[in-house]
Amino acid sequence: MRVALTGGIGSGKSEVARILEDLGAYIIDTDALAREAVAPNSDGLMEITRTWPQVIRNNTLDRAALAEIVFSDADARARLNAIVHPHVRRLALERDAFAKPGQMIVHIVPLLFETNYLDDIDKSVVVIAPEAQRIARITSRDGIDEMRVRARMAAQIAPEEARRRADEIIENDADLATLRERTRILYERIRTES
Ligand code: ATP
Repeated sequence: MRVALTGGIGSGKSEVARILEDLGAYIIDTDALAREAVAPNSDGLMEITRTWPQVIRNNTLDRAALAEIVFSDADARARLNAIVHPHVRRLALERDAFAKPGQMIVHIVPLLFETNYLDDIDKSVVVIAPEAQRIARITSRDGIDEMRVRARMAAQIAPEEARRRADEIIENDADLATLRERTRILYERIRTES
């Protein structure tokens, strides 16, 4: 059983993934793989260097500088995705092979519906949280202002659209204990369905 877990920034994907991991799922975090894909001396970093030499310092990617470019420019974002995503998919499939037999595999994929991630996903799960809570959590977690959070939200699929397209929905509009309980119920149900 291979699940893709998605949701907008600050919706609570990482929290849900932590809960699923405690319940026994095998987690693949594509954000971490995206960082690995552009690590020093990687093919991904070389490709980025050719496209935006100004975001490389000492053979290392200046992530903030690149974020500024791509969050305000849809073409640049598409170009970056075209570079990074094939590497992420390759790394994800390498990791996927290490799951134990019968273990639920959960790929955290922030841009699941914006990209062609993997063909063989059995279920997509979206985490939805109220916009005001997402903004409050991200501004305090990442120390960025509300305008930047809103720009990043605007670069992602609208939550109502994700809600329509996902197989399953986790509402994250209450406390963490509630999120844990909702996630556990979904986990048990998906497992018995498989
Ligand atoms: P991003 O895509 O930006 O990485 P995310 O979807 O992974 O975000 P999380 O990191 O899981 O979101 O959540 C954002 C912040 O809000 C975290 O600090 C997390 O601990 C907190 N949080 C998430 N859900 C709740 C909740 N129900 N109650 C309180 N805090 C929460």
